[in-house]
Amino acid sequence: MKYGRVYNFSAGPAMMPEEVLEDIAAEVLNYRGSGMSVMEMSHRSQVFQEILDTAEADLRKLMGIPENYKVLFVQGGGTVQFAMVPMNLMKNGAACYIETGVWSKKALAEAKRYGEVLVPASSADRQFSYIPDCSSLEIPENADYVYLCENETINGITWPALPDTKGKPLVSDQSSMFLSRPCDVNHYGLIWAGVQKNVGPAGMSVVIIREDLLRDDLPQFVPTYMCYKTHADNGSLYNTPNSWAIYCCGKVFRYLLDNGGLKAQAKRNEEKAAVLYDFLDGSSFFRATAEKDSRSLMNVRFVTPSMEEDAAVIAAAKAAGFENLKGHKSAGGLRASIYNAMPKAGVEALTDFLRKYEKQR
Ligand SMILES: *Cc1c(COP(=O)(O)O)cnc(C)c1O
Repeated sequence: MKYGRVYNFSAGPAMMPEEVLEDIAAEVLNYRGSGMSVMEMSHRSQVFQEILDTAEADLRKLMGIPENYKVLFVQGGGTVQFAMVPMNLMKNGAACYIETGVWSKKALAEAKRYGEVLVPASSADRQFSYIPDCSSLEIPENADYVYLCENETINGITWPALPDTKGKPLVSDQSSMFLSRPCDVNHYGLIWAGVQKNVGPAGMSVVIIREDLLRDDLPQFVPTYMCYKTHADNGSLYNTPNSWAIYCCGKVFRYLLDNGGLKAQAKRNEEKAAVLYDFLDGSSFFRATAEKDSRSLMNVRFVTPSMEEDAAVIAAAKAAGFENLKGHKSAGGLRASIYNAMPKAGVEALTDFLRKYEKQR
């Protein structure tokens, strides 16, 4: 690959489109005649305001975000959102969390600090290898929202269809599948995504929140910065934002628009994932761990017959230039994260490598 770059299968931070990186590199010393880089620029300047406004407008266009939703760029990773969601949305002090893996478990553990957490469905019984049936959940009247992790990055499962929340606002952690396919925002009360998985550099989340969920009456203990309304009222400029991340994400939003939007991206993602899953399904050495109807198109988790063999494959793959195939420490095995920016050629090269490995062992 160009510039000596490698196929990087990291779960996050992860690959960004090469064209976007080139564009950023070209502007890094002098952003469009401003005489300075984005990193050096006042966030109150007109030139930065344009970067921010364009990023938001492009994201709105890309996802078709309705007028009655706010788009917020909030500092901190996903972990900050685990706290912000219950702090802002628990009015009655109760919420339902669907338990499907590490990230939903972390979210529900954090929510327990602020109120009662009910778990109406879980896939813990089969090592979080599937999405449980959520067509008729038991949701108590006082629950403020229903929360799910739409793509579990570590065990590699994704929701084939959204649950029936019985009219309660749906809150979704889309971190590892954000912008990977079309999304009807109307189905959600709140969508949030840490951007370092599928969009840009670490340290920021995009929050898309329905306006009626913004509150003025939050408990006194909620820090000003942690109120969604603070960010909504100040156009994501309450304090110095993560201007660099906003700029880079804006570039990626524009890149996706220029390349056919989310429908075209979804098609590319489906084709890419099929290359790897088809191989795994035909292999007698490797095995995909997610059940078929819940398979993630972004994080493909697979195993060999033993932990020793897993480690040997990971080492051989690294030597051949395929980086970051080691599964998360909590799950083991192998994981190929093939986000939007991973080219199909990268998945094909990895699949060829695995095929040869299996033959030659
Ligand atoms: C990575 C990840 C997070 C946590 O993000 P941080 O930025 O590390 O806090 C949360 N949810 C999902 C689904 C993730 O993949």
